[in-house]
Amino acid sequence: MKKLITVWFSCGAASAVAAKKTIEKYGQTHDILIVNNPIKEEHEDNRRFLKQIEEYIQHPIIEAVNSKFPNHSIVEVFDKKKYMSGVLGAPCTLELKKEARYQFELSHNIDFHVLGFTIDEWQRQKKFNEGERGNTLPVLIENFITKDDCFKRLRKDAIKIPEIYNIGFPNANCIGCVKAQSPTYWNLVRSEFPLIFQQRAEQSRRIGCKLVKLHGKRIFLDELKPSDKGGKIRNWECGIFCSMGEI
Ligand code: SF4
Repeated sequence: MKKLITVWFSCGAASAVAAKKTIEKYGQTHDILIVNNPIKEEHEDNRRFLKQIEEYIQHPIIEAVNSKFPNHSIVEVFDKKKYMSGVLGAPCTLELKKEARYQFELSHNIDFHVLGFTIDEWQRQKKFNEGERGNTLPVLIENFITKDDCFKRLRKDAIKIPEIYNIGFPNANCIGCVKAQSPTYWNLVRSEFPLIFQQRAEQSRRIGCKLVKLHGKRIFLDELKPSDKGGKIRNWECGIFCSMGEI
């Protein structure tokens, strides 16, 4: 019987290339599952990208969903948990990605995991190996592939990257990610997706979560002025193993 490799595809450029590399290298010798955790609040173009990647890699992409949140909506998670983000992390990641993966693992005997970590992110790969699962295949890292290389590879192969990157966001995660603390990030959300900004502002005020950090001080989103600025928006990926980080 062949061993089973599961590639966790996040709709980001790096995990798309990781899926391609895994199929190229292990397609003949292993069974491979490409798995996505759908999130309702991601940009709609992520679904178009997923379909294009299915064709590109000639392999279906299946879903892993937490049965307690069948709508896979971060807004529903926040309302149920009465918590959005803080020292305890972000409950959306825990419920819609981590717990969804744990449930998937119960019904699939996975021998190896593949994650879309690039060489620039070797420390995150190490952290995952040490804290979550040691049985990973670092298909991008072992080839010294950077995030930029992933974009170049997709462009070269005529794959249209998710629209959210073109709008200026550093990753293909949820629009209005609650891990983001940067005024620059939130004002980009406000200018490009005003309804989503309004929704996060209303919900975070109701729950009592100060999402933004301005000049070292936490403030509510509805206190952020359109002219407020922070540092450069960090390139950061939620993936299946979001870790707290400033965006
Ligand atoms: S991208 Fe942000 S908002 Fe979306 S699941 Fe990950 S941590 Fe939560």
